Amino acid sequence: MPHIERLQASVINQIAAGEVIERPASVVKELLENSIDAGATRVEIAVAKGGTELVRIADDGCGITADQLTLAVDTHATSKLRTAEDLEHVGTLGFRGEALASIAEVSRFTLRSRPADESSGAELSVRGGQRHGPVPCGCPVGTTIEVADLFFNTPVRRRFLRSTQTEMGHIVEAVTRLALANPHVHFTLRHNDRIVHDLPPADPWSTRVAQLFGGDILDSLVWVDSSDDDVRLSGYVGLPEVTRSNAKMQYLLLNGRYIRDRSLQHALGEAYRGLILTGRYAVACLRLDMPAEQVDVNVHPTKLEVRFRDGGRIYSQVLATLRTRFLSTDLTHRLTVAPNGGAADANTATTSRFGQPSEAGASQWRADAGGRGDGTRPGGPLELFRLDRNWQAGGGPSRTLPRETGADAKFDAKVDASANGHRGGASPETPGATAAATDDGGENPLVRAMQIHNRYLIAETNDGVVVIDQHALHERILYEQLREQMLSGRLESQNLLVPEPVDLTSEECAAVLGQRDLLAELGVRIEEFGGSTVLAASYPAMLRRVKPAEIVRELAARLVAGGRAPDRRDLFDEMLNMMSCKAAVKAGDYLSPDEVQALVQRRHLVDDAHHCPHGRPTTLMFSREELDRQFRRT
Ligand code: ADP
Ligand code: MG
Repeated sequence: MPHIERLQASVINQIAAGEVIERPASVVKELLENSIDAGATRVEIAVAKGGTELVRIADDGCGITADQLTLAVDTHATSKLRTAEDLEHVGTLGFRGEALASIAEVSRFTLRSRPADESSGAELSVRGGQRHGPVPCGCPVGTTIEVADLFFNTPVRRRFLRSTQTEMGHIVEAVTRLALANPHVHFTLRHNDRIVHDLPPADPWSTRVAQLFGGDILDSLVWVDSSDDDVRLSGYVGLPEVTRSNAKMQYLLLNGRYIRDRSLQHALGEAYRGLILTGRYAVACLRLDMPAEQVDVNVHPTKLEVRFRDGGRIYSQVLATLRTRFLSTDLTHRLTVAPNGGAADANTATTSRFGQPSEAGASQWRADAGGRGDGTRPGGPLELFRLDRNWQAGGGPSRTLPRETGADAKFDAKVDASANGHRGGASPETPGATAAATDDGGENPLVRAMQIHNRYLIAETNDGVVVIDQHALHERILYEQLREQMLSGRLESQNLLVPEPVDLTSEECAAVLGQRDLLAELGVRIEEFGGSTVLAASYPAMLRRVKPAEIVRELAARLVAGGRAPDRRDLFDEMLNMMSCKAAVKAGDYLSPDEVQALVQRRHLVDDAHHCPHGRPTTLMFSREELDRQFRRT
């Protein structure tokens, strides 16, 4: 018969320690949070050997009186919480009273502290849970904590520690998160006596961002700000051209606490939909501030995850704020080249953009439609770029009306352009920033664009030259048009006199029949035929250049490609992507001068014309300033 016994306190503490203290970076995080809660304005962090040998954190906060030192390292002992009711509105970073106890249990721990009104301090040391002191000591006002030989008494944990470099990486990240959330605090971080970060108090916030990530990044950030009742969202998001291969550069601070939230991360992704490539992540430093009772931070011991009272509303606020901001921001890719011709930082991106013409990744869709020359295209420019009349008249998403082509328009251009918003960097934190805003580089309607290599269009703009990928731009225009027609239920579909049989695999057949309603919304009516064959009964009128069977086969392939059942929005989006890609002019298609003109002018009719629906740029911009610089005219 197994025998049940109560665990000893030290065992309980070790188990609890395992939850909060996973690695040296957890120590740094917990101690820094305590320093911030103690009102410190200066915090010095020194670590040795990735924190495994030593973590020392000294602050100038309120300190702890000698008679409370022992209590500070007791489990469930805290000065930040009294009643269960207090849990409803936690305003401090800590509140569980676990960190010091946990750390002291698994290290050689020394705590020295002195409140401002005491003439001397006191010291308490704990070796793997065994306490010595407190004893009086001389020390500056504030608190200094040393954590040596972490996990010396828990060999399993110790074995799981990674290389010095990896552990140091985690520590830098922990410091970054807290430093970002507390720009008013002076932080220094030393590793083996080498200074990693020295971050004096920073105001405005962008200064702290620059201290942490380098000043260059500021040029590619856009300030966003919105308030919905008592929820404020503010901070910086990156232009679509600066992306990362993971979401690590997405910092979300809730009431001064760094959090990870899948839903808000999703909102961020949605805001960038069609602006960046799939698999890439935008950069963001965002602050959310709201009354403490609207969020539950007591979800997880590390307090990294929280629960919002009204998560849906915050999701919408994030999405709407970013989308609105993007609509008023010129997101056209601007090219810069190092004057010496060498590859500078910004140029690596530029070069690869040049080296990666838009169609390179557009894959099979285009490949199987390839080779179609000018000949199969019916009609002239009006046919090819025909836009629904209602849509053009402002019923659709067009914000900028087509420019006038009268002689006066040339002189109106400046005014017109400035109405189109400006690029990033502008922040209400930096007065006068708006004055430095540049215009959107809109084409001068009087200057004709020309086609080169049957794939790019070149046009003069008010402040430079743009190179347009004809396929990418046309694709975006068609995408917006299709979407708009679909959402308003005005998608024209063309019935086939004789429905066309389409042979599919049995998996595709099931998927297509399963998504019949969605496909019908897209103008593609499908009927059962028998076996793994379906009948295509109608197709979107816009796609008259493409065979209905081909559309169905393509849709079917997309439906089964993901493996798992895609969400409706994703599916819908992918179908629209596919259809606009199919219907758009291809790289290699010759366009007559009128067609070139028609396409370029329609650029102003759609939001996000700067990116194709897959997130590749449609337009690259060389500013006149940059040209002047290159030709040494400055
Ligand atoms: P919690 O932060 O959840 O209260 P901790 O175990 O981290 O729990 O700390 C216990 C208590 O010790 C805190 O409530 C606080 O009163 C005190 N304390 C810890 N670190 C500091 C510090 N750097 N300055 C002042 N007081 C501190
Ligand atoms: Mg704490």
